[in-house]
This record gives sequence, C-alpha cells and structure tokens, in this order.
Amino acid sequence: MKKISIVIPAYNEEGNLSEIRKAIDHVFHNLPNYKYEIIFVNDGSRDRTQVFLEEMSLSFPEVRYIEFSRNFGHQYAVKAGLDLADGNAVISMDADLQHPPALIPEMIRKWEEGYDIVYTIRKYPKSISRFKRSTSDFFYRILSKLSDVELEKGSSDFRLLDASVIDVIRDGTESDVFLRGLVKWVGFRQYAIPFVAGERFAGESKYSLGKMFRFAFTGITAFSVKPLYLAAYLGFFFSLVSLLYIPYVIYSFMNHSEISGWASLIMTVVFFGGVQLIILGILGIYMGKIFKQIKGRPNYIIRSKNL
Ligand code: UDP
Ligand code: MG
Repeated sequence: MKKISIVIPAYNEEGNLSEIRKAIDHVFHNLPNYKYEIIFVNDGSRDRTQVFLEEMSLSFPEVRYIEFSRNFGHQYAVKAGLDLADGNAVISMDADLQHPPALIPEMIRKWEEGYDIVYTIRKYPKSISRFKRSTSDFFYRILSKLSDVELEKGSSDFRLLDASVIDVIRDGTESDVFLRGLVKWVGFRQYAIPFVAGERFAGESKYSLGKMFRFAFTGITAFSVKPLYLAAYLGFFFSLVSLLYIPYVIYSFMNHSEISGWASLIMTVVFFGGVQLIILGILGIYMGKIFKQIKGRPNYIIRSKNL
C-alpha cells in the first residue's frame, strides 16, 4: 500500500488542528487504497498547539508531530516536514483550512498518472482584501521579472511531491529556503491545479506585512543575481550620462568665468547618494546571504518529535 505523508506547519493554530485532522481523515476514508500520516510541524507556537498535538497523537495513530525549539518560519517548518517524511508522496498544506483537503484525491490521481509534482495555483475569492491581492500579484510580477524561475501568480505551498523530488530537496544545503522557487527550479514533470482559497478557519494570518516583504526579498535574491546586474547597469548608465555632462560643464566654465550652480550640485549629490546606498544595500543583501550560508547553522532545531 502506498503511503501519503501530509505535512502541516502550525504556528499558534490550536483552533484548527482538530478540524484539519478530521477533514483529512474524511478524505482518506474515500481513498481506501492509501495509507496516510499527518505530520504537524509545531513552529514554536505560544498557544496550546503542542499540548493538542501530543493528545491527538495518542488518540490517532496517523497523527505525528515535530516540535521546533522556537519559531523558525513557515518555509523551514515545511522543509522539516519534507526532510523527515517517508511517504511515497508528500503533500504540504496550511493548517488553517485555506488549502481545501478536498483537492487531495485529484492531486493523488495526477501523481498516479505520472506527474512528480502536483502544485496548486490559488485564485482569490472576492472576500480577500484588495490590498493583499494586489501586493501578492505585484510580488509575483517582480519575482518573475527579477529571477530565473518562472513562478505563476498565486503559486501556493499546497502541493504534492513525489519521494524522488523530496530526495533532491532534502539534499540541498541552502540557508534561505524558498520552496515555491525551489520546487519550480528542480524541474521534473509538473502539473498545476487551480483552487479558490477559502477563509481561514480559526485564528489570524501569521504573515504580517513585514514578514511578507522579507519573504519577497528572500524569494528574489535566492533565485537570481539579476539585482546585481541591475546595479551594474545603473552604474554604467550614470557614468555615460556624466561623460556627456562633463564636457558641458567645462564648456560653460570657459565661457562665463564665474562659478555658479549650487542647486544642481546639491541635487546630484543627494541623488547619487541615494543611488549608491541602494546599490550598497543590494550588495549587502547578497553578502548577508553568504554570511548566513557560511556559518552553516542548521535551518531549524527540533525540540521533540513523534514520528
Ligand atoms: N506558519 C508557520 N510559521 C510561521 C508562520 C506561519 O508555521 O512563522 C504556518 C501557519 O500556521 C499556517 C501556514 O504557515 O499553517 C500559513 O500561514 P498563514 O495562514 O498565517 O498565512 P496566509 O495564509 O495568511 O498567507
Ligand atoms: Mg492562511
């Protein structure tokens, strides 16, 4: 019998755990030819998530858990689940029921047809705020422009991966984990299923605006050095402009001997100060990544687990 591992990152999700377990159990009730396990990854929750997980794993043999020593972030929680899952296929999904478990049978069907990766594209329902919708669309547009992986708008972390794909991902030693990009990047045979994201069942979104920005920066810089090229192009462009400007300055200096131009001087100083800082910042981000990578700290630390 083939085994499907479901990986669910959970950060302060006490109100959702029992519900999502029930929903998944219901789905597999109708898929009698598969064994399944649910691996909850408790990403340093401050609520009673851990207590609930321990209780649930006693009552339901298919419930497993991994407890992190602190909050490491959604991507690392999913990564830990993938690292430790041993199913023939692994499905990752959110704890808040925004990823409909009802899609699981179709994902498995596509996997059985020979696709190694079955990922999902989230369509927003009308209720999602225009702000979240447009920032998310903007993010994917920028990401596709700036990086070397083609990420479709609305790519989500609800996906099925074949064990062979997970072997590849497990071997990676990247310190900045951005699974959406990584999964696109590895190739294999991929299939996309669109779905409409539901409302969060209980609790609030754990992605603050700040986290979303960091996520976007990680995504761009983990998959591309295009921002560095952008910096170099800017440099070339302004050098060229200055080459045209210098003869003009010399010419006007020779024709009217008095020196004026305080305003234009300040403007150029301020402008180029800004441009240089941006470029330094871009360099700094990549340097920070090298720094992080070179320290070689683990991506996550497990406090306890029941697998
Ligand atoms: N999550 C996590 N660690 C974090 C933040 C979020 O494990 O630091 C989990 C969270 O419990 C949920 C999933 O990641 O299962 C997606 O988070 P959320 O629903 O808050 O994001 P949104 O759907 O609003 O983008
Ligand atoms: Mg959510």
